[in-house]
Amino acid sequence: MKGRNYIDGRWIEGAVFTTYSPSDLDEKVGEYPLAGQAAAEEALAAARRALPGWKRFNMQARSDILRRAGDALLARADEIGRLLAREEGKTLKEGIGETVRAAHVFHFYSGEVLRHPGQWFNSMRDGHNILVSYEPVGVVAAITPWNFPIAIPAWKTAAALAYGNTVVLKPSNNVPGCAVLLAEILAQAGIPEGVFNLVIGSGGTVGTALITGADAVTFTGGTETGRKVLQTAALSMTKVQLELGGKNPFIVLDDADLDLAVEAAAQGSWLQTGQRCTGSERIIVTERVHDAFVDRLVARVARFKVGHALDPDTEIGPVANQMQFDQNLEFVALAKLEGAELAFGGTPVEARTRGLYLAPTLLLNTRNDMAINRHESFGPIAGVIKVADLEEAIAVANDCDYALSSGIATTSLRSAEKFRRESGAGLVMINTPTAGLDYHVPFGGRPPSGYGGRETGAASAEFFTEIKTSYINHGVV
Ligand code: NDP
Repeated sequence: MKGRNYIDGRWIEGAVFTTYSPSDLDEKVGEYPLAGQAAAEEALAAARRALPGWKRFNMQARSDILRRAGDALLARADEIGRLLAREEGKTLKEGIGETVRAAHVFHFYSGEVLRHPGQWFNSMRDGHNILVSYEPVGVVAAITPWNFPIAIPAWKTAAALAYGNTVVLKPSNNVPGCAVLLAEILAQAGIPEGVFNLVIGSGGTVGTALITGADAVTFTGGTETGRKVLQTAALSMTKVQLELGGKNPFIVLDDADLDLAVEAAAQGSWLQTGQRCTGSERIIVTERVHDAFVDRLVARVARFKVGHALDPDTEIGPVANQMQFDQNLEFVALAKLEGAELAFGGTPVEARTRGLYLAPTLLLNTRNDMAINRHESFGPIAGVIKVADLEEAIAVANDCDYALSSGIATTSLRSAEKFRRESGAGLVMINTPTAGLDYHVPFGGRPPSGYGGRETGAASAEFFTEIKTSYINHGVV
């Protein structure tokens, strides 16, 4: 893969850094140019020049561009999914699935162009009426993480473009390949010069320049980085949307369907190598069912096949990068030091290639006040916390420095509804894993897991538009 930046409709070459496959550290995947502040400013200027034209761009034509981009993502799902799997380490099936999701998102926002919101009100003043219209925010900077390298750039870009904004995308330097293909697809779909720009560069320089120079920044990443983004944006009064980390609880009650509970906990905790902001990291189990549930969960986690992302029988691919791999091992060491019992995993796994393979890890006898239950591991690591009853389970679930997703397994409608109402998280999952979401409804957490409006679905219009209230004196008729 020869990556390029895309600024003002021009491809900018230059190989400066290389990515390697986490499945095989000897396999080179891509070479990319590293842009600096000047390129970020050039992209912002191009996006600003293109803004008036894109705001008044014919609605049907704008919708058509997004639809064609979705069509191309679908047509190239195997190729993009394979690149994603090689560069990030998701299994091929997960990589293709994520690309198909990105295509669906473009199709959804192709329709949103035509459903652009607006409201009309009667006025208290005779002969007047009031129009509330939603206008583009302007130039949007999209800053994205490595763990969903096609879906997150797609849902930020498609929504921003649909509501009439121009975009500068800065993907994670760890996995930039899919963003390059997205730029290629948008260019081929007919996006006008400057409306979409791609700048590959470090968060500290390019990210900061984009936040300062854009009208709005939509950011997904770690909570600490999110705080920095918010601070930088405060100085330039840039509108901010943050999607950040999670430490998501999954409760299993005495009356749960155990097969369902085990499968939901296993999928939520370990699929996609646990590198999902909505993954289940705290499994909270009531005491009567605790031992039976844990026995089954240990048997289930042992069945996962860890291996090369492209091998057809792999269910859990490698950890995405060396830093994350080292942090995961440190996390396990800390858990043992704190007195947690290692029920499964916690060690590197040998595979046919030299990759970053970690066994899915289950920790027992953990307490909610242990450091391992306070900080996001962002790896294939889950801890079980034993509690007395539903009341204590909800209290433990909510006693957390994150508020993204939360889940419960129960056959009691009453318990499910009580949890739904009392959970402090932005997402509640009943008898289904904490991870996994639909693209046509709002997605996001509450502070400090999220800030400044929801993503996906029509709810994203709140962030990507500004309200204008117009009073019209048409005279008494
Ligand atoms: P980071 O916060 O490290 O980076 C995210 C992006 O921000 C990258 O593009 C990075 O650039 C950039 N960045 C880094 N520093 C700055 C800065 N000072 N100003 C502006 N941009 C900056 O997150 P990761 O990529 O490591 O992703 C993992 C994190 O993302 C986890 O905490 C996870 O929970 C969270 N996440 C949240 C989701 C949600 O929707 N709530 C979904 C997916 C992930 P670069 O690294 O290239 O220098």
